[in-house]
Amino acid sequence: MDLGLEGKAALVGGASKGIGLAVAQALAGEGCRVAICARGEETLRAAAAALRLRSGSGATGAEVLPLVCDMAQYADIKRAVAQAAAAFGRLDILVNNAGGPPTGTFDELDERHWLHALEQNLLSAVRATREALPYLRRSGAGRIINITSVAVKQPIDGLMLSNATRTAVVAMAKTLSRELAAEGITVNNVCPGNIATERLISLIEERARRQGQTLEQAVSLEEGRVPMGYLGDPEDVANLVAFLASGKARYITGTTIQVDGGSTTALL
Ligand code: NAD
Repeated sequence: MDLGLEGKAALVGGASKGIGLAVAQALAGEGCRVAICARGEETLRAAAAALRLRSGSGATGAEVLPLVCDMAQYADIKRAVAQAAAAFGRLDILVNNAGGPPTGTFDELDERHWLHALEQNLLSAVRATREALPYLRRSGAGRIINITSVAVKQPIDGLMLSNATRTAVVAMAKTLSRELAAEGITVNNVCPGNIATERLISLIEERARRQGQTLEQAVSLEEGRVPMGYLGDPEDVANLVAFLASGKARYITGTTIQVDGGSTTALL
């Protein structure tokens, strides 16, 4: 299916690794110009070079713009959105993504943890959306896609901050989707389940340590919880994001879709 994304411009948060990088790859592979954000300049530049190489060898070739940006800092977000729009002359697609907050129960988390999680995992989406909206409005087919977690359908024990901040993103997105629908801008949430990235492996390692298991035991336990029997790849999430970013998904807005190999048991 040709997604018709050639010539569009996208900004992807948290994109030097993992799901964000796979999303940038999928969009670049479709001929999108992509700005990728992360805090560490070296890893970011290496990711951009790899993206250019991979997409450049394909039919479309793509422009990739690395932007050092801490998604927890409003000034960084403002600058990144302005730089992307200036470099590409437009912005059509915003993918809100950042690293996950630390694990912990209520008793283990203090005010500082909460404030940082709110900045990184809720306000990042609010602020990037605010800054990008003028450009998305001009696009005529603007797209806002928030990477959240299956935790918004079934809160996960021990992930207090993730459960709380991501459900707020979903509530914001639903409300916003109705406010922007008449302008042709869609707003959707994508919820990864168990996707094999550094983030997931470090969560599994932590769990293994707490429960006195080896990493292999903990991984196979995790795989056993997925009806499909294996962990997903970042590309499994990226494929859905690319579709939602395209004109093919013009009538899909306000949704929250999991990519989890069937592990969520909630109905909605
Ligand atoms: P990851 O840790 O592998 O990659 C995160 C990326 O974001 C990296 O490029 C990192 O440098 C960047 N980043 C982190 N914090 C940032 C910040 N403040 N500003 C800018 N860039 C930042 O994570 P991932 O597995 O790709 O997960 C992406 C998001 O999806 C996270 O919020 C994660 O919690 C969520 N999620 C992941 C899974 C999973 O199974 N992997 C499941 C549910 C939810």
